[in-house]
Order: sequence, then structure tokens, then C-alpha cells
Amino acid sequence: MRVVEPVVELARGLWTTLRMMFDKPVTIQYPEQKKPVKARFRGRHVLKRYENGLEKCIGCALCAAACPADAIFVESSENTDEERYSPGDRYASTYEINMLRCIFCGFCEDACPTEAIVLGDQYELSFTDRRQSIYPKEMLIDPVPADARPTPQKTEPGVYTRSVPEMKDPQD
Ligand code: SF4
Ligand code: SF4
Repeated sequence: MRVVEPVVELARGLWTTLRMMFDKPVTIQYPEQKKPVKARFRGRHVLKRYENGLEKCIGCALCAAACPADAIFVESSENTDEERYSPGDRYASTYEINMLRCIFCGFCEDACPTEAIVLGDQYELSFTDRRQSIYPKEMLIDPVPADARPTPQKTEPGVYTRSVPEMKDPQD
């Protein structure tokens, strides 16, 4: 009995090894191959634009107030019809996120009244200097859509009086 038991265990171990040799490998050849992230993955933030190119961010700083890590800095300035960045009165003239502080909790996304800040699917965050960990608005904001004008835009007076658009409740 003493001899048989180790031999059985050894055979079981070898059988497992043999079986795994024919399984499909799970290794991803990163960075050439990238594994798709789940729908609710929280990666690097993106500042969104409307289809007409205006920025969704209205510089209200609610995201900064909600952030438990004090990672967001927002400074707002006044829009005019000659130089309009977003609907309503104000826009974020400075918007920075310190990625060394961020814990990717998503509170900023939840707090935003215009759905301007979204945690996207980008997970390639690396830097070699602490200063590089502060991502400015220019790095975070979406590119201007192909058929839209860049900001600042010259707009008709009285068109963009409302900062927060009519929105439906989120579905997920
Ligand atoms: S994800 Fe969380 S920690 Fe990161 S900036 Fe947003 S609120 Fe702050
Ligand atoms: S991202 Fe949203 S919550 Fe933050 S300043 Fe802009 S509009 Fe306000």
C-alpha cells in the first residue's frame, strides 16, 4: 500500500501535465496582442465632446469634490459666444488628473452632471517621472469629430444657454 499510493499520485500528476499540454494556451503576446477589457472596466479617463465638437465639461468641479484621492484639479473660465468651448456659462480652462493618486473608483464619473468624464478602456499608463503622471486636459479630451469644428467655436447668441442637457437615466 505504501508503494502504490505515491505511484498513483505521481501518475495523476503526470496525467494532468500531459492533459494541459494539449489545452489551448492562455498566454497573450502583449503588446502585439491586447486582451479586450470587460464592458465595465475602469481605465484611463476621457473627457467627452458633443457631436458638434463642443466640450461636455462645464468646469463645475463636482468630479474634483467627489474624488476621494484628491486627484483632480479643475479651473474654470467664462464662455462667450465669440469663444465658446462648452454649452452654458463656463468651461474647464484647466483640467488635470494625477494618475499616481487615482484609484480608479469611478466616483468622478458618477458625480459628473454632463457625462463629460468617463473611465475608458485604456490601461497603458506608464511614466518615468512624477510630473508625467499629471494628465492635462489636452491628453484627456476626445479628438474633435470629423465633421465638427474645434473649440473654441464662434456661436450664435442665445443658443447655448443651458449647461446641463436633457438626459435619460443611465441604463447600466
Ligand atoms: S476614478 Fe476615483 S480616484 Fe480616480 S480621479 Fe476619479 S474619483 Fe478620483
Ligand atoms: S468633468 Fe464633469 S464634474 Fe468634472 S468639472 Fe467637468 S462637468 Fe464638472
